[in-house]
Amino acid sequence: MSRAPSVEALIEGVLAGDRALLAQAITRVESTRPQHRADARALLTALLPHAGEAQRVGISGVPGVGKSTFIEAFGLQRLADGHRVAVLAVDPTSERTGGSILGDKTRMAQLAADPRAFIRPSPSSGSLGGVGRRTREAILLCEAAGFDLVIVETVGVGQSETLVAQMVDVFVVLMLPGAGDELQGIKRGIMEVADLIAVNKADGDRVHAAALARRQIQSALHTLSPASPHWSPQALTCSAVEGTGLDEVWRAILAHRAALEPVGERAARRAQQQLDWFEQLVDEGLRYWARAQPRFEAQYREARQAVASGQLTPGLAVDSLLEALLD
Ligand code: GDP
Repeated sequence: MSRAPSVEALIEGVLAGDRALLAQAITRVESTRPQHRADARALLTALLPHAGEAQRVGISGVPGVGKSTFIEAFGLQRLADGHRVAVLAVDPTSERTGGSILGDKTRMAQLAADPRAFIRPSPSSGSLGGVGRRTREAILLCEAAGFDLVIVETVGVGQSETLVAQMVDVFVVLMLPGAGDELQGIKRGIMEVADLIAVNKADGDRVHAAALARRQIQSALHTLSPASPHWSPQALTCSAVEGTGLDEVWRAILAHRAALEPVGERAARRAQQQLDWFEQLVDEGLRYWARAQPRFEAQYREARQAVASGQLTPGLAVDSLLEALLD
């Protein structure tokens, strides 16, 4: 095996748009080995000024809705438009199952084979917060490598949707034409994070059901107060298999940007995302730091015991624990 490339070689490779070196740079940034953390800092510091230019699109939906079929067909159309497309994945189940079902190159073989595209599976270990951090950093590296459309794919379960919505400019939810499904989605709060909803599989004998679902979703969207005064979430239909409606989804993504960018909302959303991420890292960092204090373990056990025996309330126990640490 050849030696691992130096940080300088990785920086140069990323800036030159070299996909193999981009993949290695992301691996280096994801690594938890102490000597790689320094490399990660150097990489991110050097590449950050070259990042930020892409349109960041989140795509979510239940397994089987057609995410990979959609992203492949949609991605190929955007390549034909002259874009360079990166696909990243956030998969909260990958740790448990030991393998990622998202961002798998075999799921998007044609897109993966194109030199103008880059596909990266979900980081496969760590908490959802850790996966979120690594995905955010991977977005920056892809942008520095010249990918001007970054798609972040996630399954429509639990918190991963909210996590991804917090790292993209526009969030697209794919739904199925089946009656009732879409209303269930509305209840689950998907509507709160969706900027666009596309009813997929609008083909064959599902065309009418899809049109009906689209109307139901659109009227449900009208009853919600939109997150932005400048954008009302839209419902569309498409068929990833037939390639129909995908241009309309792209036009809606561009319309969303055209509505938000001139009024400063796109920049504000990104700034807020950075601040939220910062707050999260401060919390994590402080927790890590506190637990690493030599006195922590003994004081913690003592406070815990006091809570268990009813001697102190949890609030009082935490107060005394923190006081003891800061003494
Ligand atoms: P994912 O789990 O969300 O990534 O879904 P897949 O992209 O793997 O698709 C699940 C199944 O639905 C596959 O058998 C696809 O061929 C099929 N599928 C995806 N998109 C469409 C579509 O637009 N129309 C039809 N009829 N089938 C589709």
